[in-house]
Amino acid sequence: MTRTDVVVIGAGVMGSATAHWLAANGTKVVLTEQYSRGHQRGGSHGDSRIFRLAYPDGDYIQLARQSLTLWHHLEETCGRELLVRTGGVDHGLAAVAAVGGALEQHGVGFEVVPGPTAMDRWPGMRFEGEVVFQPDAGRLQAGDVVDSLQDLAVGDGATVLFDCRAEIARIGDTSVVVTTERGDFEAATVIVAAGPWVPLLASRHVELPELRITHEEPAYFPVRSASDSWPVFVHYDASERSSFAGYGMEVPGRGVKVGLHASGSVIDPDASERPSSGEVRERLAGYVASWLPGLEDRPTETVSCIYDSTPGEDFVIDRRGRVVVATGFSGHGFKFAPAVGQLVGRLARGEVDSPPRFRFRGG
Ligand SMILES: Cc1cc2nc3c(=O)[nH]c(=O)nc-3n(C[C@H](O)[C@H](O)[C@H](O)COP(=O)(O)OP(=O)(O)OC[C@H]3O[C@@H](n4cnc5c(N)ncnc54)[C@H](O)[C@@H]3O)c2cc1C
Repeated sequence: MTRTDVVVIGAGVMGSATAHWLAANGTKVVLTEQYSRGHQRGGSHGDSRIFRLAYPDGDYIQLARQSLTLWHHLEETCGRELLVRTGGVDHGLAAVAAVGGALEQHGVGFEVVPGPTAMDRWPGMRFEGEVVFQPDAGRLQAGDVVDSLQDLAVGDGATVLFDCRAEIARIGDTSVVVTTERGDFEAATVIVAAGPWVPLLASRHVELPELRITHEEPAYFPVRSASDSWPVFVHYDASERSSFAGYGMEVPGRGVKVGLHASGSVIDPDASERPSSGEVRERLAGYVASWLPGLEDRPTETVSCIYDSTPGEDFVIDRRGRVVVATGFSGHGFKFAPAVGQLVGRLARGEVDSPPRFRFRGG
């Protein structure tokens, strides 16, 4: 039995950001990961994720702003470029009012570009009506981010164990015991940052909202003209205010990665097989053909990844006794990782309470 302050279960971007923050702030931490380093079975792998400030919701704008400062700090700390600034466009009939209005309210700079002008500026894309352009948006180098967070955590004294599946064994008055494939750990607090696997690990201990675990398959499409410039983009389905339809970003040397948000089928995260969906691939190719004329409409590669979505796409970050949980990142969490890592670390140290909208069911 090894004693430590905190055990973190799950070394995706959220568990790794939390372990980094805790270790950098003097807490003894053990980070466990069931798969090997760099695995592709969760939600944090690959080369790219969208960073944006543009949300139709002030809380997420504030969290994204806080994260932007922390991303720059992380880049300085690890000496790597993690966020490539490209600017971002949000479009769709619901976008300008909802996103533009929220950005204005929160004093974030943006531009409303008329449709025809936008199509001149970004000829690879088609727009119906005006678009919102926000210059601070960009592409996060996902794999490099997770690597850097893990390296920094180890540099600050954290223990990181790969190929080491863990589970909560027992919760006592003064400590919690976590059993792993590498022995047992006794800690003051356990953080379950296991994304789509959280219901399997924590639903006995906390009241989780419904989590929909889906297999998502964005794909890379070749650009027709190398001279086109590509901001990251989010396309709001006209009928929806909050949830978006299509999204994408250019990845140098690979084309443009395009995805249909929350379009995948429900899966068991532990299932070894994750069948690819011909229906989603067809819908995606159709989406590209109608909205992204600057791309070939046949993908070169499809990516396999998992979402853990809550009904309202709000995150679940809360604590019950000695158990802290971080999940429900609903396909849009990566950009907030440094701020989430700090919040989860401080929750575990009893320094803060969970923000009301991120609380377990029943608050
Ligand atoms: C296709 C796709 C596109 C996305 N695009 C964007 C985007 O553009 N912008 C954005 O901000 N976000 C985006 N996201 C969302 C973002 O990537 C996720 O919200 C984020 O990566 C979730 O991180 P996580 O650490 O919570 O989960 P995960 O990365 O899934 O990590 C959980 C980890 O826990 C481990 N684990 C589980 N059980 C155990 C156990 N018993 N013992 C030890 N380890 C265990 C798993 O192996 C896994 O590594 C996207 C997600 C997907 C799938």
